[in-house]
Amino acid sequence: MKSLLIVGGGSAGWMTAAYLNGALNLRGKRPSVAITLLESPDIPRISVGEATIPSMRHLLSVVGFNEEDFMRAADATIKQSIKYQNWVHNDGSFYHHPFSFVPIQPLDRAGEIWLSSDQSIPFLDTCSIQTAVCNANRSPFAQAGKNLPYQLNYAYHMNAQKFADTLRDFSVARGVQHVLANMTTIDTDERGWVSGVNTDSAGRLEADLFVDCTGFRGHLIAQTLGVNFEDYSQFLLCDRAVTMHLPYHRFYPGLVRPYTTATALSNGWVWDIPMQNQRSIGYVHASDFISKEAAEAELRAYQGPGTEDISVRFVDFKVGRRKSLWKNNCVAIGLAGGFIEPLESTGLYLSDLGAVLLAEHWPRDEAAIPELSARYNRLMANRYYEILDFINMHYCLTKRTDTAFWREVQKPERINPRLAAKLAMWQHKPPSAHDFQDQWFSGMENGADVFDLSAIGGRPPVDNGGLWDHKSYECILYGMHYLDDCADRWFGTNRPKTTPLPFVARNMDSVSALQDHAHWLQNSVGMKSYHDAVAPVGWGT
Ligand SMILES: Cc1cc2nc3c(=O)[nH]c(=O)nc-3n(C[C@H](O)[C@H](O)[C@H](O)COP(=O)(O)OP(=O)(O)OC[C@H]3O[C@@H](n4cnc5c(N)ncnc54)[C@H](O)[C@@H]3O)c2cc1C
Repeated sequence: MKSLLIVGGGSAGWMTAAYLNGALNLRGKRPSVAITLLESPDIPRISVGEATIPSMRHLLSVVGFNEEDFMRAADATIKQSIKYQNWVHNDGSFYHHPFSFVPIQPLDRAGEIWLSSDQSIPFLDTCSIQTAVCNANRSPFAQAGKNLPYQLNYAYHMNAQKFADTLRDFSVARGVQHVLANMTTIDTDERGWVSGVNTDSAGRLEADLFVDCTGFRGHLIAQTLGVNFEDYSQFLLCDRAVTMHLPYHRFYPGLVRPYTTATALSNGWVWDIPMQNQRSIGYVHASDFISKEAAEAELRAYQGPGTEDISVRFVDFKVGRRKSLWKNNCVAIGLAGGFIEPLESTGLYLSDLGAVLLAEHWPRDEAAIPELSARYNRLMANRYYEILDFINMHYCLTKRTDTAFWREVQKPERINPRLAAKLAMWQHKPPSAHDFQDQWFSGMENGADVFDLSAIGGRPPVDNGGLWDHKSYECILYGMHYLDDCADRWFGTNRPKTTPLPFVARNMDSVSALQDHAHWLQNSVGMKSYHDAVAPVGWGT
């Protein structure tokens, strides 16, 4: 197939255009597919100030975007972890989910070693240096002249609006055609395949393959092709966010955290995402449990005094996915395909993955579509299910009982059957590498009632495709104290003192050889200095 029309110019649309142009057209050097992107001049993008996961670095490298140029253009900072605060109890306690752990293969028993100790230091501090790096507000990069015996993995916080703009300029300069117009109607042929789209000012656009990046509207995949939605709101209760941007010239905290903070509030949680010129904060909450006014008040209270003149924005969202993300000659990428709330920063990742898989499964002719799309749909379904399990786990393991919301999320009917089966397994043994090579545990058959597997061949997905392995699960399970009772049962209550693994103990001093994050941003990507601004109350402690 020789031509592609992407409808929608949000992050998903431009990531898809840039990635496919990189992968299929060698960044415009050897064009084999004509790529056009249609974007409305009137309908704004979502863009709230996004956190990402390390897959973004792969996308940038295939696109051919230099990292520092990207960071300058998108006001990006480095993200090395998510810090979860107040998720177990509403008492200020926290745990991290970082991107790097020490190399402890082939026999990775870090979890078991920690569980069989007195747990006097957090699990992560025994097997990762990265939480110490985060606590010290360091970048992952060594100071000049210093060598490190490891490399820390990282992702970015960024302004997704600027990211989309910069990918647009980059892609257009390399051969992607950009059409600014509103799509008005969509034509299908007698088989139900999309044959073209009509616009208000650019005529009719045709292509062999169409990508629906129209955001939650899903103009092609849902409204035209009628692909149903698999709803996850039974397991993830949050459906709205109230967001605010805090410019550094008024609220510079004196540092730039190299991690995302996710603090549980009364009826959801607030993200705190630092960029180069501002912080984005957003309270993700459940509209059945808290009004807009109360959510806004709680967000302002989270920040502290001084935000009275700063406006907020409300964003409604639906959690779930299209049952088929690729139907006929239409692929849905980004919010048009689905969304699972932003707790683990997987929104842009799913767009990124959608683009990567489409490049890998690019149909050379129409006859290849049934098999390629079936495989694509299965791989994407896997990932959605995996993300659902992982995010669902953060909520259902809480011990908070201070509001109806936190009491509700712990109820058995709020735990999806796939996750319940995993949690049941981990009452017998801690998570380990092989759990993630075949993720089929007894009890998962109950999920047949809940998930519609018909669009992916009726066969339940079983692997996580390397998104999160046992280490990530262990961060959450131990951080949320899920296996406390098991540890007593398995190892008794009189256990030896916790000690870090040898690699961590040997290399903890190296944290001081890393560059301060804010200084690195100032020196390497031109972040301004905000020395005179006032720090918000409580920040940096
Ligand atoms: C509250 C919230 C928080 C989030 N936080 C994160 C995060 O921390 N990390 C992360 O990775 N992701 C996050 N996401 C997800 C992330 O914002 C999206 O995945 C990403 O922005 C991609 O959006 P999109 O391009 O699919 O949709 P949109 O940004 O909505 O873009 C849709 C595009 O379609 C165009 N369009 C629509 N209709 C038409 C038409 N008729 N004609 C022509 N064009 C049309 C619009 O103009 C626009 O360009 C979050 C999402 C929400 C809702």
